[in-house]
Amino acid sequence: MGKKITVEAGALKVPDNPVIPFIEGDGTGPDIWRATRRVIDAAVQKAYGESKRIEWKEILAGEKAFETTGEWLPQATLDAIQEHLVAIKGPLTTPVGGGFRSLNVTIRQVLDLYACIRPVRWFEGVPSPVRHPEKVNMVVFRENTEDTYAGLEWSAGSEKALRLRKFLVEEMGCQVPEDAGLGIKPISKTATRRIMRKALDYALEQGRRTVTIVHKGNIMKFTEGSFKQWCYDLAREDFRDVIITEEELASTGSGMPEGKILVNDRIADNMFQQVLARGDEYEVLVMPNLNGDYFSDALAAQVGGLGMAPGANIGDFVAVFEATHGTAPKYAGLDKVNPGSLILSAAMMLEYLGWKDAAALVVSSLERTIKGKKVTYDLARLMEGAQELKTSEFAEAMVVNMG
Ligand code: NAP
Repeated sequence: MGKKITVEAGALKVPDNPVIPFIEGDGTGPDIWRATRRVIDAAVQKAYGESKRIEWKEILAGEKAFETTGEWLPQATLDAIQEHLVAIKGPLTTPVGGGFRSLNVTIRQVLDLYACIRPVRWFEGVPSPVRHPEKVNMVVFRENTEDTYAGLEWSAGSEKALRLRKFLVEEMGCQVPEDAGLGIKPISKTATRRIMRKALDYALEQGRRTVTIVHKGNIMKFTEGSFKQWCYDLAREDFRDVIITEEELASTGSGMPEGKILVNDRIADNMFQQVLARGDEYEVLVMPNLNGDYFSDALAAQVGGLGMAPGANIGDFVAVFEATHGTAPKYAGLDKVNPGSLILSAAMMLEYLGWKDAAALVVSSLERTIKGKKVTYDLARLMEGAQELKTSEFAEAMVVNMG
């Protein structure tokens, strides 16, 4: 019988046999989930023998939930995630029509999973469109609850848009065309401080040396500009002993002090060229929602695409780890697609549990398997001399490579 993960004295307390709920996902979800479970169970066994073991507990969302319960995202599923604190999910179909919101967005918002965390690194042998993909080893901390994603928008000519326009024109003295759609971009001090705290905590824990605030504050002064300012304030107020800002460093005229984290900021458009030209200067990036959306995928493309990019949505303790690609429905049930994204997300989950040895085994066996040119179709078609494996065969090859 597994035991629940709990929070004690402000920290996660993980039993040796934690119950972890999983959503296998739609389309290719079941294929990549099976492969992931095989690899994770093998890594835990290899790292800890019989002393640790995950008790997987299936919870329903997406098509499987709809067929079984008539609901796409049953309350029982959200309750189970909240209760068990850590969960993992495959991709889910966004139901078309009927005004459905994305199930993923709903999960994030209902559970207040305010940090979308995407580590991006290159694995030797993975085809990439750039000359030096090895220079990218960054982790994006994207604020998940605010910005243009808050859903505060009204279509051009609608009654609400016209009312808002009237207020803006008559009471605020703004110029707004009558036929404009309107949206509001809220960025708060509270949400900014908590994402920056997560990024700095992560940098400290993982021994990362730089945290970069990515914003467009030169134009959007009171949203993105304030985001930058509040991030710096939090760093100076709550992490004073362990950080130094770029400005402070310049004023000392000497080199980077030993053991400190450099906090700097970059304007988003400049940052796109920085990550291409000088990727090795950046490690942890923290940014508002929309910038984070762009950067996560742009960086993933730099290291060979979304098929291998892991991700997690994390709040105060509750964490959902997920594949970042979609359901790839045309390959559903063919045992064909790359399980790398979900496997690496599961490795992030092991790290989150504090099971670092098992996490390291997963990552090193993935490295070894790809380097040995044993890959799924997506990579095989771009690599010379590669052996194309099915999803399940790739998982088996990874298990063999743990040994
Ligand atoms: P997609 O499912 O990500 O698939 C687009 C293409 O990406 C696939 O045809 C395939 O390319 C490649 N691909 C995706 N996953 C792969 C994998 N594991 N291994 C190898 N290649 C992979 O995007 P979509 O077709 O736009 O979306 C399909 C459904 O997924 C929609 O219902 C969408 O709402 C949903 N979705 C869910 C999530 C989520 O749950 N987090 C995220 C995005 C989309 P090739 O055809 O070139 O081989």
